[in-house]
Amino acid sequence: MPRSSFLSAPKLMNMGFHYTEQYSLRTRIRVLGLVNHASPEWRRWYLECHEKPALQKMRDAGYDFVEIHYIYGYGLQGEAAEIERTRQMVENAHAVGLKVTGYFQFFSVQEELFMLENPWAAQCLALDAAGKRLEYNYDRPSLCFSHPQVREYYLQGVEHGLRYCGLDGIRLDNDYYKGCYCPLCQKLFHQYLAAKYTPEEAARCFGFSDLSGLCFPRQRGGLDPAYLEMALFRQQHRQNIMRELRQRIDRIKPGAVLGGNPAVSRRVDNDGVINVYPADLAETHDLVCAENSLFPGINDKGGLRSQTEIYAFAAAAGFNAYPSHHLHGPDHRYRWPDSQECALTLAEALAWGQTPCTTWGLRFDGSGRSLYERPEFMAVTRPFAEFIHQHPDIWQGAVNVAPTAIYVNRESRLLFPEECQSSLWGLLQILLRHGIPFRFVVRDGAEALQGVETLLVPNVQMLSEQQLECFRQVPKVIFTGASGRYDLQAFERETAPESDFPDTPEAVPISSLTEPAQLPYPEQGDRLLPLLPAGLDSKQAVGATLFQVPDGRRFLHLVNYETTAARIRLAAAPRQVFAPAFAGGRLEGDELVLDTYAVLQLEDKSSSR
Ligand SMILES: [Zn+2]
Repeated sequence: MPRSSFLSAPKLMNMGFHYTEQYSLRTRIRVLGLVNHASPEWRRWYLECHEKPALQKMRDAGYDFVEIHYIYGYGLQGEAAEIERTRQMVENAHAVGLKVTGYFQFFSVQEELFMLENPWAAQCLALDAAGKRLEYNYDRPSLCFSHPQVREYYLQGVEHGLRYCGLDGIRLDNDYYKGCYCPLCQKLFHQYLAAKYTPEEAARCFGFSDLSGLCFPRQRGGLDPAYLEMALFRQQHRQNIMRELRQRIDRIKPGAVLGGNPAVSRRVDNDGVINVYPADLAETHDLVCAENSLFPGINDKGGLRSQTEIYAFAAAAGFNAYPSHHLHGPDHRYRWPDSQECALTLAEALAWGQTPCTTWGLRFDGSGRSLYERPEFMAVTRPFAEFIHQHPDIWQGAVNVAPTAIYVNRESRLLFPEECQSSLWGLLQILLRHGIPFRFVVRDGAEALQGVETLLVPNVQMLSEQQLECFRQVPKVIFTGASGRYDLQAFERETAPESDFPDTPEAVPISSLTEPAQLPYPEQGDRLLPLLPAGLDSKQAVGATLFQVPDGRRFLHLVNYETTAARIRLAAAPRQVFAPAFAGGRLEGDELVLDTYAVLQLEDKSSSR
């Protein structure tokens, strides 16, 4: 359940407005190949966007909230003029009924101004394994938040935004932790190890009892327990500062939103690169960007591309995710979505109870217009906004009750990312393509397994004894690959659990993982189908999710990933069909003809399939 009541039902979000004039002039940026931000037309548009008429237009287009610029890293004094504009824009937005979150660049600062204002920061730079400073691009150093002064900078930024600018929330960008090798971080690592390991336990795990000389490894290698502990420490260390920011926000403005973009599910070994286990975001964040270019659709290889991984994590852990719309073609050039792609992206988010968003919407599109105002986008966003505003009860308090689940865990994703992700990314395609509703189990223990009838454990190689015990409560558990071969400290078991599919038929080839947007459909994947519950009766790739609201009503959300309408034969008539006025669906006899998105309210307890 989201802690922000504002987000308890989907709200349409518009964003892209984080490039300040200052930043634009300094960098002469052409964001995603768009216009030159240093031009007079851009400046005119930028200033006008702060004014009430522009915000009223956005409100009229159906948007509930916008994300605007706030802190780009020049320092609170250094960008005071832009912050003043933020304050005015918030006031104007509130006057027309829009909520506002403010962009706060977390990973890096603009040293040219920041260091003048904050000379102490030169002693607080984050360092890579070679001792060089960590940077975003060539000119934006990263601060190490092990230093209290750095934490104070973030806390002050949050406080100023909520109090002075009147923001309804803060959206951190790049709130990942690339891992810092500075002496202070090393020291904290040793404290972490000392607290976690007795001398006996250290000797059992590492071969020696005194861990106070253990260095951060430079990279992941085999079953290295030092790498595993480093990654676990870093995830916890990042979590600590996020918790501090969350607490500060809650103290200043209860209900205010904390958003973030730690670049979740962008690459195969992501959890150990950004040092985030996605489920942890629920403790601190309300809103998370799926910044991964995985806009939904069928890719050139016939694979099903989607942002489901982050949505399923969000639905299971209890935060909200919103889509990334950074489309790119095979030549890796960015492009904007067409109407159908825009609808599909919003639909996929809604099917998982997440936040529909035009991530690129608030950008200059020439002739004084913002990108979201293009007719092909308004044709989609307006009816989708009307739809979610008319039927908030479809999502309010909704819980994913799919009887099929996929188990994932932190340790395996760190030490065996290729094995985990090739199986997970293949399995997601199988379940989505065949319309089998599912959920994620992202935490250990018996509670998360309640109601699960079929549990898939896709090559999750590290499992605790307790978790294996918990699996016994599930009627059907399907192990693939070498699931459970190791315990959580990467010691091999004498007798591993028996695998149902040792050859992991669900996995996509390891060689395809470098480009998650272009994954093929797993060649052998359909061998799993006889063991899974029946999915939708359709020839096309139609994904399904199953949610239940507090009064007991169950909703089956259907998303057609293909560009032609799908015909789905329904085993039982639904009680009601809900769909947006654009790209929706309609009943024809016992068939549902689905353009992109529809929600079926099911009859009590009987299956629709
Ligand atoms: Zn450090």
